[in-house]
Amino acid sequence: MPPACTSSTPKPESACDMPIRPEDIKAFPTVYGRNLLAEVQNFVAGPYLVVTMEDLWPHLKALLPADTPVYFVKSMERADLEADLPATAQYSSFIGLGGGQAIDAAKYFAWRHGAKLHQFPTSLSVDAMYGQRAGVRDNQIVRYVGWAIPECVYFDYGILEAAPKHINRAGIGDVFCFFTGAWDWEYAHLTGKCEAKWPYDAGLAKHSLKLAEAALAGKDAIRDLTPEGIGLVVEAFKWGGASYHGAGWCPRHIEGVEHFIFYALEARTGVKFLHGQAVCLGLIAGAMMHNRRAEELRAAVRHIGVDIRPESMGITWEDVDASLRGLQGFVRATGLPYGIAHDFVVDDAFLASLRQMVNGNG
Ligand SMILES: [Zn+2]
Repeated sequence: MPPACTSSTPKPESACDMPIRPEDIKAFPTVYGRNLLAEVQNFVAGPYLVVTMEDLWPHLKALLPADTPVYFVKSMERADLEADLPATAQYSSFIGLGGGQAIDAAKYFAWRHGAKLHQFPTSLSVDAMYGQRAGVRDNQIVRYVGWAIPECVYFDYGILEAAPKHINRAGIGDVFCFFTGAWDWEYAHLTGKCEAKWPYDAGLAKHSLKLAEAALAGKDAIRDLTPEGIGLVVEAFKWGGASYHGAGWCPRHIEGVEHFIFYALEARTGVKFLHGQAVCLGLIAGAMMHNRRAEELRAAVRHIGVDIRPESMGITWEDVDASLRGLQGFVRATGLPYGIAHDFVVDDAFLASLRQMVNGNG
């Protein structure tokens, strides 16, 4: 017998959907350890290709045999990746070694070639390692395409320790986004604007909030990047990736206005942000729009060590102001899920408060 609907105000036009059980959602196998990359030659089916970034390779190549074939990601445009398919067709396995782009490019090749995939994130900057679909661009527009399940995701403490701390700490953006994501979904539900394909599921939202609260409570460990802190971020990443698919490709409990602000900033400025910096700026602006916990989250982001001042990410306050003023039009024009950004009127007073919040000492 299906469980009773948990929705408090079921919409008359759609039947009650069965709630997703968070405990049924499983992330990819994950291993933590040291010296993991050096073991690749002993367990990855060859021939294999390491997919990485040119700037990372000098720091990592000593961990692999000298003749290891390597592919440097230059572009995430789908047409560019497609053009590189003939040159990558001979490999049985792909090893993603890097942040979001290398991880996603490795996914893309593994998918297109039907090959095996092993993921070695070199930082905690984004949650890409737990998604089946690769974030590619079609003429600059982000699309999540493909289907690749890694044999395993390997977090090598030695490699993570070598990454700049601010890059690892920025991973909190893809965790705290659960707050504003869940709030956006709840807002859409309460205003009767939930997309019919994604009816509000209180259990999913609650599970996201539980993980975000755990990270908030563990902000010291995350700032210090202790194994406990890394674990808090990774557990949230696992949920973000696995539950997007597990909830039927529903992103509503894991992201919302904070990512939409990031997309708007990127579209306006063309700047390639450190993901978590721009997302955390969006988080604070989004929390202010919701009038929920903005000061507390601002303090936590500062405590962890993510700089969200525009000048720290190569943009100006004028860019931020213009992106936020245009946000309502942006989310409507791009068809993003319904949330606070669709209704909130950004005026001079809001922008002045945001500056104060971002620059202040709270
Ligand atoms: Zn993200």
